Amino acid sequence: MDYKKKIISGGKVRDYMTSPILSVAEDSTLKEVADFMSSNKLSVVLIKNKSLDYIGVVTDADFTRKVAAKEYSVNNTTINSIMSAPVKTIEGSAIMTEANKRMRRWGIRNLAVTEKGEYVGLLSAVHFFSYYENVEEYLSDLAINDGLTGIHNRRYFDEILAVEWKRTKREKSPLSLIMLDIDYFKKYNDTYGHQAGDECLIKVADAISDALRRSVDIVARYGGEEFVVILPNIELKDATHMAEKIRALIVALEIEHKLSSISPFITVSLGVASIVPSSDSSHAKLLQSADEALYNAKLRGRNCVIVAYD
Ligand code: GH3
Ligand code: MG
Ligand code: MG
Repeated sequence: MDYKKKIISGGKVRDYMTSPILSVAEDSTLKEVADFMSSNKLSVVLIKNKSLDYIGVVTDADFTRKVAAKEYSVNNTTINSIMSAPVKTIEGSAIMTEANKRMRRWGIRNLAVTEKGEYVGLLSAVHFFSYYENVEEYLSDLAINDGLTGIHNRRYFDEILAVEWKRTKREKSPLSLIMLDIDYFKKYNDTYGHQAGDECLIKVADAISDALRRSVDIVARYGGEEFVVILPNIELKDATHMAEKIRALIVALEIEHKLSSISPFITVSLGVASIVPSSDSSHAKLLQSADEALYNAKLRGRNCVIVAYD
C-alpha cells in the first residue's frame, strides 16, 4: 500500500496533535460548526450538551464539508445525530498505522490519545490526510477495506487476484490461495452474542495478518466468517505450510467456544489451491478449487488443512 510508505516509521501520535481544541454546543448545525472551525483554523472541536458534558467530536472543516456533507443533510442535521460513535482511546506510543487500523475497525473518526492513562490529544481522521494525497485517495482506500476487521475486502481481493493472475502467468510462476472459514461460528454467535462474534472475527483477521510475512501476501475478508489469502510466487507445498501455520495460530488464540464439538476453542478449516497460471485455466477456477478444498476440510471434521489436487 502506498500510504504506508508515507507514514513515518515509529512516529508518535502525539507529534501530530498540534491543533487547539475548542468546544461547540450540540444543537449547532453542521454548517455553523464548519464555519466556526474554518474561521478559527481548528481541525477538531468537541461537542458539549446543555449540561456542558463532553459528548462527541467533529473533525476538520474540509473533511466535514467534503465528506459529511455528501452523506448527511447539512442544513438540518445536528452534530449530535452524526457523532454517535463513542470515542475510544489509544496509547501515544502507538504508531499511526495501528491508530488508523483501529479507527477503521471501530468505525470511528476520532481517537483520544493517552499517555500513561492521561489524555494528551485527539487523533481525527483528518490527520491521516497528511499521509494521503487528498480526501479522494483516503476514501478510495477506505473502500477497499473491510469496516469491521480493517483487512482488505472482497472487492479488493477480486482486483488483486486478477492482477496477480496476469503477473504470475507472465512469469510462469505459481499462484496460491488459501480459503478459510471459522468452524461452528453460528453456535459461537448464539452462545456469546453478536458483539463477541465480531471481536472474534477481528482476532482471527489479526492472526492471519500476523502469519503473513511478505507485503505481496494479501488477506481479505471474503464473506461473513470466511477469509481468503493470496500468495503470489508461492508453490503448493509452502502455501500448505502457511495454511497450517495460520490454523495453529488461531487455535493458540484460545478463544473459548463451549459449543464447538471439536475443540474447547475457536478453530478454522482451510482449503489450499495452487497453480502456475496459463490460458487453460482461470483465477475463477483457482478460487473454486480452494473453495472445494475448504468444503472437504469441513467434511473431514474441521480444524484442518485440505489441499486441492487437480
Ligand atoms: P461451519 O463449521 O460449517 O462453517 O458452521 P458455521 O456455523 O460456522 O457456518 P454457518 O454458515 O452456518 O454460519 C455462519 C455464521 O456466521 C452465521 C452468521 O450469523 C455469522 N456471521 C457472519 N458474518 C458475521 C459478522 O459480521 N459478525 C458476526 N458476529 N457473525 C457473523
Ligand atoms: Mg461460512
Ligand atoms: Mg463457518
